[in-house]
Amino acid sequence: MTERHVVVVGAGPGGLACAMLLSEKGFSVTVLEKEAVVGGRNAALECGPYRFDVGPTFLMMRFVLDALFHRVDRDPDDYLNFFPLEPMYQLDFVDQSMKIFSSNETEKEQAEIERLFPDQTDGLARFYQQEGKRFNALMPSLQRGFKHRREVLSKEVLRALPYLAPGKSLFEVLQGYFQEEELSLAFTFQAKYLGMSPWECPGAFAIIPYIEHAFGMYHVEGGLNAISHAFARVVEEEGGRVRTNAEVAELLLDGRVARGVRLASGEEITADAVVVNADFAYAMSELVGPGVLKKYSRERLAKKKYSCSTFMLYLGLDTLYDAPHHNVVFADDYRTNVDDIFKRKVLSDDFSLYVHNPSVTDPTLAPEGHSAVYVLMPVPNNESTIDWDHSAGGLRERALDLLEARTVMTDIRQHIQTEHMITPWDWQHDYHVYRGATFNLSHHLNQMLVFRPRNQFEELANVFLVGGGTHPGSGLPTIYQSAMISSDLIRAAAGQRGRS
Ligand SMILES: Cc1cc2nc3c(=O)[nH]c(=O)nc-3n(C[C@H](O)[C@H](O)[C@H](O)COP(=O)(O)OP(=O)(O)OC[C@H]3O[C@@H](n4cnc5c(N)ncnc54)[C@H](O)[C@@H]3O)c2cc1C
Repeated sequence: MTERHVVVVGAGPGGLACAMLLSEKGFSVTVLEKEAVVGGRNAALECGPYRFDVGPTFLMMRFVLDALFHRVDRDPDDYLNFFPLEPMYQLDFVDQSMKIFSSNETEKEQAEIERLFPDQTDGLARFYQQEGKRFNALMPSLQRGFKHRREVLSKEVLRALPYLAPGKSLFEVLQGYFQEEELSLAFTFQAKYLGMSPWECPGAFAIIPYIEHAFGMYHVEGGLNAISHAFARVVEEEGGRVRTNAEVAELLLDGRVARGVRLASGEEITADAVVVNADFAYAMSELVGPGVLKKYSRERLAKKKYSCSTFMLYLGLDTLYDAPHHNVVFADDYRTNVDDIFKRKVLSDDFSLYVHNPSVTDPTLAPEGHSAVYVLMPVPNNESTIDWDHSAGGLRERALDLLEARTVMTDIRQHIQTEHMITPWDWQHDYHVYRGATFNLSHHLNQMLVFRPRNQFEELANVFLVGGGTHPGSGLPTIYQSAMISSDLIRAAAGQRGRS
């Protein structure tokens, strides 16, 4: 059994998943987290008796999470209580009669399309068939790591290539199935999961609505933050350490070889391998001195493309509204709203909201008869000139106005018992998210696969990456996949054979 010491910088879902896999395989693992709690963007936010998820609320591809637990010889149901969501979500367009309930049960989804778009009924079967093929072709390239640019010719990438739909946006691909604007949007708003515009997001990401419809969507009791807590529990069961309030100030480098980390307290910890889970662009700008990195120097990082940001409200209410678990309220003019975020980088006059109302599913999040509601507004990242100290209060009022006007939460202001707000500046300064781009480096094709920062970091020996800023990408299932890829690479570097 190897006793190599691995330090993990950050206890986000990626860092904890990797720590879990490695500690179970006999590595001595120390996770260093700057906050007092684990989870990062996937942490719990406790406000009095209310509990919110800070970030992720949609759990897709549950089979990837299951695979992680199976790799450490555990049953996920022993750690987590899953609730499949049906319908998956409600989409609310400005015409009040246009509410679409999305289902992952084919017959129900087909009936919903027949009810609202009687001339578009043949698209769903084609969508399932063609996007299923695309999903099967792309998956292997999302499950392997890339060490060299030449691996762009690997069999997995060659298999994926015909399905990458280069030059086509997600919206254009979906228009091939559904011509009605609202129906296309029902299958393309998912670009927001990547913090991108449906009109810019590569068409290959049509696999995301496919994944939702084919495999469904889950909630976890206590919120998705419970997954991060479960990972931390496994790390400790396997003898690993999770140290909170332990901010890393720099990577200790011997030339371009990492030897450990220095904490903000001055403590130095040596390691055979350093796993960086902190946001990639933040970490490479702040934890590595100037002049060391070339491909990802500060200047080059500044030129990369990043996702949008989010303005968040977390509201503890003394009532429970009869609204679905997940709700998306579309701006009157969605295209203008999206262009404001991504092109003009200004606050829209007319904006869209995602409203999370999980207390309808899960009574553990608030006292009886109360609820924990979170509101997410996609907004420009900090490449904008928006002064968030000045704008946040007004935006809160406008978000509440929209909830009162467009949802069943018509008297929400009267029911707010406690609240918390996160602005793009908070994401950057408190959560260490580069430019407040909450969904990381964007997922343009030239920042994907072999072109994304590699799991075995190409610029520093002994450094491995996990999380949304590395391959394969920024959602929870891909982050879990990054942990599997990186832990396999670390094991291989240590001479351990086979997959975990
Ligand atoms: C609002 C929002 C909603 C989202 N919704 C979804 C969703 O519904 N479904 C989905 O699949 N994905 C979603 N995501 C995307 C993604 O799943 C999460 O952002 C996820 O938490 C990212 O995980 P990570 O491991 O990359 O890093 P993070 O969660 O960012 O974790 C990094 C950790 O590093 C720590 N850290 C940073 N700097 C240091 C330092 N110097 N020293 C020590 N520790 C440090 C941080 O405190 C943090 O704990 C959402 C993201 C956001 C922000």
